[in-house]
Amino acid sequence: MSQNCIFCNIAKGKIPSHKVYEDEIVFAFKDINPKAPVHIIIIPKKHIACLGDVSCQEEQVLGHIQIVASKISKQFKEMRNGFRLINNCGIDGGQTVFHIHYHLLGGRVFGWPPG
Ligand code: AMP
Ligand code: ZN
Repeated sequence: MSQNCIFCNIAKGKIPSHKVYEDEIVFAFKDINPKAPVHIIIIPKKHIACLGDVSCQEEQVLGHIQIVASKISKQFKEMRNGFRLINNCGIDGGQTVFHIHYHLLGGRVFGWPPG
């Protein structure tokens, strides 16, 4: 837990969010500024700044996030034809909140390559 971290505070319930999933390892909630019809943020409860900071210790939590993303996708008809799971890492990666998180996006067709 990092006192001033917005996502730590969301996971603790100190900042309100629209929760879609929670277990002992992760917390998932709707993005406040959605970039697709369905836009969910999945975070580990443990504070990790970014994907560039992880070590083998985080293998379980990072793997778990992908399983949870798949599970959540099944709750939304908008994602029955597919979805996108994205991590933005660091300034060049477009990261703005420095608590590692994955964007689960669905409900439209996404372009490639990303911008
Ligand atoms: P990134 O730019 O990859 O770091 O993504 C941060 C995401 O967090 C953005 O899509 C924001 O819209 C989202 N976000 C920031 N604050 C909140 C909040 N209080 N509740 C929900 N989503 C948020
Ligand atoms: Zn945090």
